[in-house]
Amino acid sequence: MTELNKSVQMLPGVGTKRAEQLAKLGIETVEDLLYHFPRAYQNRGKVFSLGQASLSGQVCATVLTVGSALSSVRLSGGRTLSRFTAFDSTGKCVISFFNQNYLKDVFRLGCTFRFYGKVEKKGRSFSMTSPAFEPWSDEVRPPEFYPIYPLTAGLSQKNLQNIIGPLLARLSQEPMEDPIPEDVRQKYSLMDRFSAFAAIHMPSDYDCLNAARNRFAFEELFLYSLGMKLMGMRRRKSTDLIFPKTDLSDFFAQIPFALTDAQKRTVNDIYVDMTRSETPMARLVSGDVGSGKTVCAAAAAAIAIKNGYQCALMVPTEILANQHYNDLQPLFAQLGYRTELLTGSLSASEKRRVRAAAQKGEADLLIGTHALITDDTVLARPGLVITDEQHRFGVAQRQALSQKGSRIHTLVMTATPIPRTLAHILYGDLDVSVIDTLPPGRQVVDTFKVNESYRTRLNAFIRKQVNEGHQVYIVCPAVEQSAEEEAENGETISIHYRPENELPKGIPLQAAVDYAKALQSEVFPDLSIGLLHGKMKAKDKDAVMADFVSGKIHVLVSTTVIEVGVNVPNATLMIIENAERFGLAQLHQLRGRVGRGSAKSYCVLMSNTPAGSTASARLDKICQSHNGYEIASFDLELRGPGDFFPQADQARQSGEFSFRFAGLAADVSLAEHAAAAAAELLRRDPTLKEPDHLHLQSAIERLFRLADGSIS
Ligand code: ADP
Ligand code: MG
Repeated sequence: MTELNKSVQMLPGVGTKRAEQLAKLGIETVEDLLYHFPRAYQNRGKVFSLGQASLSGQVCATVLTVGSALSSVRLSGGRTLSRFTAFDSTGKCVISFFNQNYLKDVFRLGCTFRFYGKVEKKGRSFSMTSPAFEPWSDEVRPPEFYPIYPLTAGLSQKNLQNIIGPLLARLSQEPMEDPIPEDVRQKYSLMDRFSAFAAIHMPSDYDCLNAARNRFAFEELFLYSLGMKLMGMRRRKSTDLIFPKTDLSDFFAQIPFALTDAQKRTVNDIYVDMTRSETPMARLVSGDVGSGKTVCAAAAAAIAIKNGYQCALMVPTEILANQHYNDLQPLFAQLGYRTELLTGSLSASEKRRVRAAAQKGEADLLIGTHALITDDTVLARPGLVITDEQHRFGVAQRQALSQKGSRIHTLVMTATPIPRTLAHILYGDLDVSVIDTLPPGRQVVDTFKVNESYRTRLNAFIRKQVNEGHQVYIVCPAVEQSAEEEAENGETISIHYRPENELPKGIPLQAAVDYAKALQSEVFPDLSIGLLHGKMKAKDKDAVMADFVSGKIHVLVSTTVIEVGVNVPNATLMIIENAERFGLAQLHQLRGRVGRGSAKSYCVLMSNTPAGSTASARLDKICQSHNGYEIASFDLELRGPGDFFPQADQARQSGEFSFRFAGLAADVSLAEHAAAAAAELLRRDPTLKEPDHLHLQSAIERLFRLADGSIS
């Protein structure tokens, strides 16, 4: 273990400068380095003939025999050009290198190599420039996969390979401590830790890469489950906040509708937690968009306030805070409760006033953004903290809450229709209430899948909606057009199992920035087109959103940042570009942004995926089904739980726990096995104090630290 905790600077070939570069990638210890997994692998295992290779136009592998001695010429400018010919049964290829004089001794006449590069055809002969190469014979077969690591300036693939390769060779000499206990590994046929590291960095074949991915996914889920369960156990201290005043009839008298059965169940769960349970409430309410979670949260707030305590309601954006304030302030005023709003755009003196009211216990319900409430505000008599639109699972935020005082009741609301099978894994420390039906009379958003040939008609439809006084959302999968991925790098295998790996290549991604520009200048010069994406400052985002809410913006082009529960009842059309790129749960959630008013609403999925493909079948499901749980289960069956385990890029946007490996390799049963193994281990050793388990504590801490949460 000590070996892994050492600084990378202890490794041969790593000096101060290299260590600084590695630090930029978050690599400080040997262990960090081992967990710096390739993001993809070059597939050099698929060998083409020269003829095929030149046709493919891509970087690929060919096996050639050296047919002429290498000759070098000096070029003007001092460079040396070395070239020789090599052949296979389909032709002859001139291979050139620059400034590589030593190659004379490598490319001996009659020797065979596998070359990896771009083959060009000029007249009747082929040529390659500076290909990668490995000796090839019946006895010596070089690896099929070559790692492609995430890099930083000054650090090359070769540099990293030259550090990691020798490190693995050295580590193979000694046993390596494994966070997954041996009996668990055996039970679930998991690779041991060292073999898995070796296989991830230098897979001998696809199966072994898969086995390693599985192992790390299991490891992550296992440690995550342990951490969550430990957190839950710590929470289950007794509370003195068992509220005696339990009559909610005055509250319900103010509600203009009858609760659905699912809402009643949820309110009852909350009620029992707050008025009868010996431990403080720690409950997640999961309910589809529009299922009516707010009223359940309001009921919880009413219980706390009625009993003389204060409630904080935290939301991710200022707009949501305003919406909740506008809904709840009048309702609670009827009951004689005081509601205050705390957001960034308040003046300094207003903020001071609101904080003072909170600190003196005069404000009963405080609504605001996460940042403001967690950072600066102290409630005099906190009884309940509610977090809204807590997509998936914000460990970091939940932590922050429970640190405020574990006696306090907490309620977390999410619109992610997470299937029950996964809920107990992801929210291991929370009790879960599910609102699985919508209030009656909700309109169905008609959903269509179209391809590019409908573009003109679609633009006409946008104009029609706007002419009728409505507004339109257009969602794009990317912010800016990125340099087209790896076009030069030939076929790669991604380490992450992502749906896009199954997608037909070559469908260009609509990028929000360019799209908005083109729409404004070429299609709708007379309309107001807004742009919203995650790279904008929070203040600018809020300003754009406010303009959309007020109707100043007709068409809002955005990335998925609008996913978070904003209510613009006047928006009647949502167009989702490259719809095949999104998870089904996410598509469904996006669609939930329209159909909120009385006007008929539509969702158009723009996708050029061929009919009959899996990707296309997924989109059909969205067109046919309007039940988030049904859609989520369908996706789960089809592709595994990937969608439900946010990766770093997704997680950063929302402050969630980010899984690095799970989900993408994992299937549901793997996640269940990991959770079961964690539960079993804690039954035997509830605090992980046995000597064999001590290192698990630090492994768990490491996981949560890396995911920006903290477990202590
Ligand atoms: P979400 O679960 O997405 O937060 P909201 O709580 O904002 O949903 O509710 C969406 C809309 O449905 C609100 O306008 C709310 O007043 C209304 N609503 C909630 N529950 C019911 C109900 N039982 N019957 C009728 N309308 C309801
Ligand atoms: Mg809501």
